[in-house]
Amino acid sequence: MVEIPDNPFFKLNYEPILENLGDDYYDQVVAAKFPKQILRFRNNELLPLFGLSSEAVYDDHFVEAFGKLQGIRPFLALRYHGYQFGQYNPLLGDGRGFLYGQIQGTDNQLYDFGTKGSGQTPYSRGGDGRLTLKGGIREVLAAEALHSSGVRTSRCLSLIETGEKLWRVDEPSPTRSSVMIRVNRSHIRFGTFERLYYLKRPDLIQKLLDHVIDTYYPEICQSPDRYPLFYQKLVQRVAKLAAQWMAAGFCHGVLNTDNMSITGESFDYGPYAFIPTYDPKFVAAYFDDGGRYSYGNQSSICRANLEMLHLPLMAVISLYRLEETLVKFDDYYHQFYRELILQKLGFNNLVIAEGRDLVEKTLEVLQETQISYFGFFETLSQQFNYRWREDGLSILENQKLPFADWQGWCRIYHRILNQLPIEKMETIYSCLQVYNPKISLVKETIETVWEEIANKDDWQPFYDLIKKLQFKE
Ligand code: AMP
Ligand code: MG
Repeated sequence: MVEIPDNPFFKLNYEPILENLGDDYYDQVVAAKFPKQILRFRNNELLPLFGLSSEAVYDDHFVEAFGKLQGIRPFLALRYHGYQFGQYNPLLGDGRGFLYGQIQGTDNQLYDFGTKGSGQTPYSRGGDGRLTLKGGIREVLAAEALHSSGVRTSRCLSLIETGEKLWRVDEPSPTRSSVMIRVNRSHIRFGTFERLYYLKRPDLIQKLLDHVIDTYYPEICQSPDRYPLFYQKLVQRVAKLAAQWMAAGFCHGVLNTDNMSITGESFDYGPYAFIPTYDPKFVAAYFDDGGRYSYGNQSSICRANLEMLHLPLMAVISLYRLEETLVKFDDYYHQFYRELILQKLGFNNLVIAEGRDLVEKTLEVLQETQISYFGFFETLSQQFNYRWREDGLSILENQKLPFADWQGWCRIYHRILNQLPIEKMETIYSCLQVYNPKISLVKETIETVWEEIANKDDWQPFYDLIKKLQFKE
């Protein structure tokens, strides 16, 4: 296949940054050849980040660069291990994806283009190295939904259907195939460091950590205390991420250490789910029998994963400093989480003591009533009325449900409104609109879109959903 000479994706300035670290961290691989390439999704929102305009990039350019996957530079399957459901697994690594290239964004930050579903690698372990079309669609949707909710997340640049038949236990099979391009700050995981510890290579741990700090934590790279400071920042970032997932009602589902990014970003969306109702015991992955990665366990699992990282990091940081930093995780988490729930309730930077009470009461009534998590905040944003400040009895007057202390909730909400000046009502209204999504990505929403594709090859509902998730409608 002849390369389109002026393909803007081939002209990007890919930088061999990971490659330059030496060949201890990856294997060179080639992509599979697919019988077909049909562009199903292109993320125009991401193009300006790489200096591209959507008019200048044709669908064929996407297909050429990200469907045919001819190497304009070496593709790297990254090496990593990880704890999966608590068990150490030294047989991991990029089994169905690779690092396509690294590129500086217009924001001067480095981004990875990573593939998913691009073929087998030395780490496929008997797997086919493929991604189902439904799996690709699910990852596109999760990333857009989380991004709109303010979560630091990877996003998908493109999804191309590849015309193969795949067999999976969790989908009616045969099912359709795809290859996805994921844009992420980094694909270096906690498990990348765990592998180096397992191999007893403290030298490589230090080298990789220097790279991580220089690239993703530049604000501390000159400090003599850079290693402990890095861990402090990572703990903060992960605590914030866990809080963001919780506030968004998102259950990642597979928080193994190979799915934890060293930049503290959210990525790798497999059997995730958005909660229909507030239920800490909600489990997303069908194979998570014990509920290890349940919705409500996410912050403690994140903290445990940070603790696992102590072994590799002890190559450069004392255990004492690691432990003294990790102790602060819960405080960071709770503070971030409270701030985020208050934003969803309309209050940004609320310094009133009742803020904490309101968050607690909100969770109490959501759990007791099991009303829709998304629906509650949607109703609040739609019905919010300046009159609520004067007349506490009018707050959500048509919505009060039995079996919970709604009066108590309204009393606290009213008290807070009352303490704020009248001019603030407008800010609360816009805060409610900004911090609450327009549509909920619960399982039924995704399944409905998928059924249209699977049964009628009708992609319009999928595109409509993306627009809503991106707040464009
Ligand atoms: P995940 O659960 O998607 O984070 O994947 C866990 C590990 O299994 C990673 O090393 C993946 O690369 C690998 N893997 C998952 N699915 C496949 C597949 N279909 N073929 C080969 N490797 C896979
Ligand atoms: Mg993974």
